[in-house]
Amino acid sequence: MLDTVTLRVSFGVVALTMLMLFYLVTFRSTRSAYCAWWCAALSLFLAGSAAYLLDGTDLQGIFNPLGNALLVGGTASVWAGTRAVTGQRVRSIVLGVPVVLTLVASALDDPTTNVWSGAPVFLSMMTLMLALSSVELWRAAPRGVELRLRERTYAPILRAMAVMAGMLAVFYAGRTIAFVAVGQDGLLFEAVFGTEVTTLVTTVMLATVSFSMTSLSHVDDTLDLRARATHDGLTGLLNRTEFLRLAATKWRSVQHGQVRGSVVLADLDHFKHINDQYGHAAGDYALQTFAAACRGVVRSTDLVGRYGGEEFVLFLDGARPEHARLVASKINERLRSTLVPDGMSLPTVSYGVACADAGRGLDETIELADAALYEAKTLGRDRVVLAGTGVRDREAG
Ligand code: GH3
Ligand code: MG
Ligand code: MG
Repeated sequence: MLDTVTLRVSFGVVALTMLMLFYLVTFRSTRSAYCAWWCAALSLFLAGSAAYLLDGTDLQGIFNPLGNALLVGGTASVWAGTRAVTGQRVRSIVLGVPVVLTLVASALDDPTTNVWSGAPVFLSMMTLMLALSSVELWRAAPRGVELRLRERTYAPILRAMAVMAGMLAVFYAGRTIAFVAVGQDGLLFEAVFGTEVTTLVTTVMLATVSFSMTSLSHVDDTLDLRARATHDGLTGLLNRTEFLRLAATKWRSVQHGQVRGSVVLADLDHFKHINDQYGHAAGDYALQTFAAACRGVVRSTDLVGRYGGEEFVLFLDGARPEHARLVASKINERLRSTLVPDGMSLPTVSYGVACADAGRGLDETIELADAALYEAKTLGRDRVVLAGTGVRDREAG
């Protein structure tokens, strides 16, 4: 059988290693509230189990109740951390109550000779804090079909942690009941809920929670980098690479004849004049305004990207070129209704439209749209030209 001191020392070593790794690697890069709480919890678990090492010495009377209080403080920090995931705070007085209750109950329960001083209160407080953490984590995990990427990635990690905290709460509830029913020397308590099993269970939990917390903090970093790699910083639209990647995926359905659609290239007219006349910031504003107009008009299944400079590209899912012209005029309408700083006017836009057909590749279709756009420019700008149809509509208004 493994002895308690060895187990407690190895628990302490694991907790210390976790604390150092977690602090140095995860907390310092994110500085999020839930990571700070987890650092506090690890420190308190470490201090609490160190305090128990003085059981059997002259200092047991002080350190045994202190150990209990520190461990309850650790799980209270876990609870505060789980609330921090959803941005909620816990008042320090609320966190202090279970700690003080445990300390008082243990101090009044003959701690100089009783290594299980205040155990019923200590065990119930641990159960309560773990149960609250589990509920909080479960509630924090978002659900639904329309979740954003960040939430979709968060949810399974939070749920796994909720289950873990729930299992530990059940284990502590079992310990509490067994302790009250049969006492510390009862066979049930010793065999299933004794110090050895508990130390092993909590060691595994420390490692798992640290790992999950680290994954959670990396979700934000990774998603942030991903957003920067796939979107244009000025307009927030897809960048050219990401547009082409997503359009290529859609194109598979186009080639199977399941989806039809249109590719639209849009280029702001005489955009250089805007920069020259009103300054670069005004030029940026015009680009953002055009991007917002596109976003406001297209549907969620369409794709909009900044193709480069003042040129934009759209894939309109299911839209025939005739419908694409309607979309272009709606974008223009929005542009015209946008308020602009005094004296400035937004540029007009030329559009080239090509039909997404099973017989043509994406590159070829973009080239066709580009040729149509060029034609729109040479015909005098501010118009929509449909590729290969000879339709050269000048935009009304
Ligand atoms: P055309 O009607 O023939 O398209 O003329 P244009 O002036 O719009 O086209 P041109 O290609 O001559 O000029 C494009 C300008 O767009 C030049 C470049 O400085 C400007 N530009 C490109 N990217 C940005 C940007 O991010 N911000 C701003 N403010 N200007 C940009
Ligand atoms: Mg231009
Ligand atoms: Mg251009």
